[in-house]
Amino acid sequence: MNNQQLVQRDLQVMWHPCTQMKDHEWLPLVPIRSGKGVWLEDYDGKRYLDAISSWWVNLFGHAHPAINRALAEQAEQLEHVIMAGFTHEPAVRLAERLVAITPDRLQRVFFAENGSSAVEIALKMSFHYWLNRGQPKRQRFVSLANSYHGETLGALAVGDVALYKETYGPLLLEPIIAPAPDAYLTETGESAEAFAERRLEDMRRIFTQQGDEICAVIVEPLVQCAGYMRMYHPAYLTGLRRLCDEFDIHLIADEIAVGFGRTGSLFACEQAGISPDFMCLSKGLTAGYLPLSAVLMPDSVYQAFYHDYASLKGFLHSHSYTGYALGCTAAHATLDLFEQSDVLARNRQTAARMRSAVEALHDHPQVGDIRQHGMILAIEMVKDKASKTAYDWRERRGMRVYQHGLERGVLLRPLGNVVYFMPPYVINEEEIALMADTAIAGIEAATAA
Ligand SMILES: *Cc1c(COP(=O)(O)O)cnc(C)c1O
Repeated sequence: MNNQQLVQRDLQVMWHPCTQMKDHEWLPLVPIRSGKGVWLEDYDGKRYLDAISSWWVNLFGHAHPAINRALAEQAEQLEHVIMAGFTHEPAVRLAERLVAITPDRLQRVFFAENGSSAVEIALKMSFHYWLNRGQPKRQRFVSLANSYHGETLGALAVGDVALYKETYGPLLLEPIIAPAPDAYLTETGESAEAFAERRLEDMRRIFTQQGDEICAVIVEPLVQCAGYMRMYHPAYLTGLRRLCDEFDIHLIADEIAVGFGRTGSLFACEQAGISPDFMCLSKGLTAGYLPLSAVLMPDSVYQAFYHDYASLKGFLHSHSYTGYALGCTAAHATLDLFEQSDVLARNRQTAARMRSAVEALHDHPQVGDIRQHGMILAIEMVKDKASKTAYDWRERRGMRVYQHGLERGVLLRPLGNVVYFMPPYVINEEEIALMADTAIAGIEAATAA
């Protein structure tokens, strides 16, 4: 089996995610045979540094020996069992561990299979909570401009990235979209924090006018990842928590991409010193090993559903693989790795190294912004630096950086004009240099003409 043979077979039967398949007439599909650490290897023996953690899921590298061992042992014992009416130790212990490490309001865990379904659960549960509490008028959700919460219809509806959402508009429920505290949009001289405070006034206006119709606000804490890695100041979350308390509205933190150490703290909400009412976790939860997600909520939410069966107040939501035992085992192995070494301290060093590795781009005339929250670093390519004028998306300049990266053996996958690093935490100094040098050369090439 070589690359070409597998690609030919693939293009006969497969349909890939987030892809205009016609692009593969000129853009080679990359078949991967194996992975080890930050490296992926194709069927012809060429290696690629996985600078995006395979779509933000991988934490400790591919084919990690400890996670592999744990999974093999669990597979011998129990792969999965129905979670309605039944339970198992990996799920119970994982719920205990998640409650222990997440912010204090979060006391209960509902498991699902992927990020989007976790978001659906949080939305349904918040709405249903208010209904059970005798407030049926609360039917709306607030989300931030440029947010992303997944691709299923409910999750897509509360997102705001036009590329994914616009086509399906007629099918979607309509959230109230609040302006984002995105620090890239600050006016000259204004601090990210002052800008966040201004955006909180917009939210206060929405709450004042429509608060009694609103179930919850959903946000991605600190980084809008799919929304071109736009970042904001933690003061926004602190203020939003206060507003939600004042108006009695749920705060849903979608930490699917930023949880488990990505932004520097174990959970991004910690940097704002807040606890949400619902927290959605997935992606890094299993270090990129198996699909699993969890929604955490306070005991008060649980109690609002706890009644006699005939009251029909129960939360009758399910997915076939809810609480998947092997997934829970991968999550335990992941949390064990966090306990066995000071991952966050190492990440601080790695993050500083990533930063200095792209220092040279600061004065580049086609780089409008370099922003970072911990292990996420993003570089915004612009047509005009002074006015922050974006390149026309049709020019697909990010795609040029992607192609350049593949030639040099680095998997970068820009979002529009934004080149970013979100590598597995185990990346070393030499690999950071390769990743950064490749990105810099790719940006030079993509912006040359
Ligand atoms: C990836 C992501 C989702 C969706 O998760 P899936 O597992 O892809 O369904 C939701 N919210 C955020 C913030 C994400 O990054």
